[in-house]
Amino acid sequence: MIKDNIANVHKNIEAAAKRANRDLKDITLIDVSKTKPVEMLQEAYDAGERDFGENKVQEIMDKYDKLPSDIRWHMIGHLQTNKVKYIADKVYMIHSLESEKLAAEINKQAAKVGRVIPVLVEVNIGDEESKFGIAYGDVIDFVEKIAQYPNITIEGLMTVAPYTPNAEDNRVFFKQMKQLSVDITQKNIDNVRMNVLSMGMTGDYEVAIEEGANYVRVGTGIFGERNYSI
Ligand SMILES: *Cc1c(COP(=O)(O)O)cnc(C)c1O
Repeated sequence: MIKDNIANVHKNIEAAAKRANRDLKDITLIDVSKTKPVEMLQEAYDAGERDFGENKVQEIMDKYDKLPSDIRWHMIGHLQTNKVKYIADKVYMIHSLESEKLAAEINKQAAKVGRVIPVLVEVNIGDEESKFGIAYGDVIDFVEKIAQYPNITIEGLMTVAPYTPNAEDNRVFFKQMKQLSVDITQKNIDNVRMNVLSMGMTGDYEVAIEEGANYVRVGTGIFGERNYSI
């Protein structure tokens, strides 16, 4: 079943890429496996998947040793400063950079394990009070400030668009994200690249791809509904 879901998502990604005249190999599917048991991740792995997204440090730590070492772990959830040290040697990329304090800590822990950690700046696009991320209008200043850290590289932007049953509602936000990444690219800031636009989830990844996403994060569409009560 997971295998079929994955095939289906890849088929949809391919169709969206085609509609937007985009190269399929520029688009990476991240299987969002939060709350799901390692057996299900293994199934996805066996179907060819290598990029997995988690939103809790503890879950990455629990799953990391039980699964193949060539998995690329993406930290996509709110990251507490005091927990960075547990995942600095495990994560491929951190999508949820949203404060200078967190940037400083990622930089420090990355140096300790002798690596440069790729990060994305999380943008609060719908400007919802409850959500994390840097306000749209503050992103350029923020990027300029954190570009100085030698052990992190800013690879792009990430956003969680508002929940909506109609994916078209989010097209305007995805367009704004793309525009922001173009604006930042034009500033030519040292140590800052805008190669990655991480946006689009189960409900809206096809629209996100049409608007320029190159990382889409799909959970429910691959692993089914999540049960947070267990
Ligand atoms: C849970 C989650 C997803 C996946 O959501 P689905 O709607 O299940 O595809 C994507 N991104 C982030 C940041 C998440 O927390």
